[in-house]
Amino acid sequence: RAKGSLSEDICFYEKTMDEAVRQRRRVTQGLRDALENEEFELYYQPQVSVGNNEITGYEALLRWRQKDGSFISPAEFIPVAEDTGLILPIGEWVLRRACEEAKHWDKPLRLAVNLSPVQLGHTDLPRLVHQILIDTGFAPARLELEITETAMITDMARSTFILRQLKALGVSIAMDDFGTGYSSLSTLRAFPFDKIKLDRAFMGELADNTQSRAIIRAVLSLGESLSIPVLAEGVETVDQLNFLREQGCDEVQGYLLGRPNRRALPLSQESVEIAKAS
Ligand code: C2E
Ligand code: MG
Ligand code: MG
Ligand code: MG
Repeated sequence: RAKGSLSEDICFYEKTMDEAVRQRRRVTQGLRDALENEEFELYYQPQVSVGNNEITGYEALLRWRQKDGSFISPAEFIPVAEDTGLILPIGEWVLRRACEEAKHWDKPLRLAVNLSPVQLGHTDLPRLVHQILIDTGFAPARLELEITETAMITDMARSTFILRQLKALGVSIAMDDFGTGYSSLSTLRAFPFDKIKLDRAFMGELADNTQSRAIIRAVLSLGESLSIPVLAEGVETVDQLNFLREQGCDEVQGYLLGRPNRRALPLSQESVEIAKAS
């Protein structure tokens, strides 16, 4: 071998493994401290009706602010929080804080909150949601819980049982990231979701992607047949919005309409013009 021996490779591998383990430990300890020190914040991204260009609600998105003011993405720390079980207290904090903050919005619009599969696997979830609704005085009809299809595959019967209990509280349930897992259709059959959120993976360059356009059409038609409204995630361009409107999409969410913000902001004048013109 010209460069590096096998033992050197293994040594390198062990070092990176070691580094990964240490990084994970740091994040875990950091998450514990973050809860205590109020380092979490919720940002809110508008969801907009395609029919009348009005905001129907906001999705709460968790942000972890570091001492230096920078943010760590939920894509990085949620998986660690799930592995360590810390997602349970964090998820409870998210739900409670979101309901408290949304109570003070100018308009009583819908509040969408993400639930982790780990939370769904927890028997006490319906009781916890019920308790938070009571404590905060938040109207259940305004609350929508977002659940990914992967949250349901380990035990479909149990998951649907818990989702039914949640619905009985008067909250609605949306299927998040639709189309990215491998059980989208059987999950749709197992539970009467109130909304389908089509994953942003299908947006991209719609103009020259026949496949994406066909899939979006099919999902919209599926939603129509099942009487489940469809929201398209990750809408960034006027072309995408035009296509979605033509095809009868119900709601949209994405940077074109508004980025996640610390406050539940109304649509900017620019976004209003864009939405009207499209
Ligand atoms: P998600 O629930 O599918 O949320 C949508 C993600 O897409 C958000 O990323 C949002 O900022 C981003 N996004 C919105 N519009 C656009 C767009 O036009 N273009 C692009 N490229 N991205 C857009 P974020 O906030 O980084 O969250 C990532 C994921 O982390 C979420 O995906 C959700 O699965 C998870 N997450 C966020 N907050 C929570 C939480 O409180 N609890 C749990 N369990 N998971 C959360
Ligand atoms: Mg979501
Ligand atoms: Mg999503
Ligand atoms: Mg996602």
